[in-house]
Amino acid sequence: MAAPHASAGRTPDGLSDPGVDLEALREKYRAERERRIRPDGSAQYRGARGEFGYYAQDPYTDPDFTREPLRDEVEAVVVGGGFGGLLAAARLRQAGVESIRVIEDGGDFGGTWYWNRYPGIHCDIESYVYMPLLEEVGYVPKWKYAPGEEIRQHAQAIGRHFGLYDDACFQTRATGLRWDEDASQWLVGTDRGDHMRARYVVVATGTLSHAKLPAIPGIETFTGHTFHTSRWDYAYTGGDADGNLHKLAGKRVALIGTGATAIQVVPHLGSDAGHLYVFQRTPSTVDVRNNRPTDPDWAESLEPGWQRHRMENFLKVVSSVPVDEDLVDDAWTSSARLQEKMIPTDAYAQVPPGVRERVYEIVDGRKMNELRARVDELVPDPETAGKLKPWYRYMCKRPTFSDHYLQTFNRDNVTLVDTADSHGVERFTGTGVVVGGQEYEVDCVIFATGFEVGVSGILSGRLPVHGRGGASLSEVWQEGPRTLHGFYSHGFPNLFQLGPLQNAAAVNFVHVLDEQAIHVAEVVAEARRRRARYVEPTPEAQDDWVSTLRKNAPDLNKFQAECTPGYYNNEGRPRERNDRYADGPVTFHALLRNWRADGGLDDVLVQGK
Ligand code: NDP
Repeated sequence: MAAPHASAGRTPDGLSDPGVDLEALREKYRAERERRIRPDGSAQYRGARGEFGYYAQDPYTDPDFTREPLRDEVEAVVVGGGFGGLLAAARLRQAGVESIRVIEDGGDFGGTWYWNRYPGIHCDIESYVYMPLLEEVGYVPKWKYAPGEEIRQHAQAIGRHFGLYDDACFQTRATGLRWDEDASQWLVGTDRGDHMRARYVVVATGTLSHAKLPAIPGIETFTGHTFHTSRWDYAYTGGDADGNLHKLAGKRVALIGTGATAIQVVPHLGSDAGHLYVFQRTPSTVDVRNNRPTDPDWAESLEPGWQRHRMENFLKVVSSVPVDEDLVDDAWTSSARLQEKMIPTDAYAQVPPGVRERVYEIVDGRKMNELRARVDELVPDPETAGKLKPWYRYMCKRPTFSDHYLQTFNRDNVTLVDTADSHGVERFTGTGVVVGGQEYEVDCVIFATGFEVGVSGILSGRLPVHGRGGASLSEVWQEGPRTLHGFYSHGFPNLFQLGPLQNAAAVNFVHVLDEQAIHVAEVVAEARRRRARYVEPTPEAQDDWVSTLRKNAPDLNKFQAECTPGYYNNEGRPRERNDRYADGPVTFHALLRNWRADGGLDDVLVQGK
């Protein structure tokens, strides 16, 4: 089918002649979705546990590490040492809490950036807005988009700056939280036999932290080497995160998956492997990257408060809140601003919803056509270019950015194997990968197949929580979570959770986590100041919050149901309940600030003995 492309000419608002054939696009998107949808949905995956526990082992620490169990007391325990946990601990420290213990599974701080060290790893959000606490730590990143190693070292610098190493427990997994009403304390159990007590507990265990593998028949029979991108095996490949994977010379390598991780890995594998087979099911959108070193004069000119100002500016732009200037000015912000070109953001309220939806669709179609044209520009072979073109609406999958990925498919030693018609790789043999009945013999299979969704944090039940009277949080939340603002729940005093739960999210999730951490720290600071017995919302307050969310929840189901399957839409079956705060993160953060300023704390700080 020919690309549903533009016809020439456009009225000023672009509505009467949108420049894209929307009907043709819808039809093409529907067909591409049908090709990929699987009856087994999310059940097509298995976690890296049990017989696949090998894929999750920590390659960076001594597996024989032991220590004596702890039986002590701290004021605050933070579960998780990624940016969520670090921000919670740092903000608590700033709020005057002296005794803080971070419990972390990995061997150091960093979370995602501790585990993921694959070649090419960078953060695709601008470093100046993504890397938190830059001014506090006194650091300016070296690049507009930072390499993973720089981010990991920054996580460590935060740990040092806020004195979080002294009490941290690494290589330790929290296994249970139990509230002791008499002592007004949490008892925290771990897999190292610890029994700690803490007045406050903050759970910040991340969202995409458990590697997953496709349950492809025969996966266990493959006798070559194999690993997941989140545990890159440099002993096997040679080199480091900058590439130079010299041990792959002469080796045949299979990479499974073409998401945001694969986009960064492929250029290195392509240049260093004897032969690279990339097994693709759904192509990603690959936009311009344009990374560049930090201008020292710009760094020198930064005034105090610059980072918060820039973070807020980015958040506003990507949330369609009007700004005078787009400070980050990259592919994220330019995509977000596209619809403004048709209708200025401040005029949106006056535009009827049907027209607004049409504007979104036109803007989306134009953007996707631009990205498909980029594939043709960079990949001369029409068959390969055809396979690399994404056919779905822009936010159906996570956008990616690279100035090297698409060009890698022009190399003679790189083969793109499209697996859409067989719903992914069909099976493994002892020596290779089978697609469309053809076996590709390889020495190594690398899984760039992503992470389990929704298995972290207190929602998953992986960290059992028992509150007042021994009530189990999983049971109390059987019909769905009930929180105030996503942080706390009645019956579970002094327990806070960070993450995307009954609140507002954004693409720069570290910024969202920082706002959450600031809020929790201010609530704790006030609880200490007033010598409150504990922090706990009333059932009415959390009921009100949940019904506010439900009443105004944006209906994303239609959009998601029409997307190609992936983790964004629960593999093509969007979940019915959508507890997201409708007015977006900028308004949500203001709501939290106003709540704190306007006496909201009076309702959650419980006095008494
Ligand atoms: P994803 O879940 O995004 O991608 C998994 C890939 O594996 C998809 O291409 C998927 O295809 C493919 N796949 C799954 N099963 C099969 C199968 N049976 N046969 C063939 N292919 C298969 O994982 P990533 O690790 O790439 O990214 C996860 C998230 O991590 C991102 O969405 C992003 O949020 C974050 N990330 C952020 C980065 C940053 O710079 N900020 C960088 C990297 C990751 P299909 O799409 O058809 O399901």
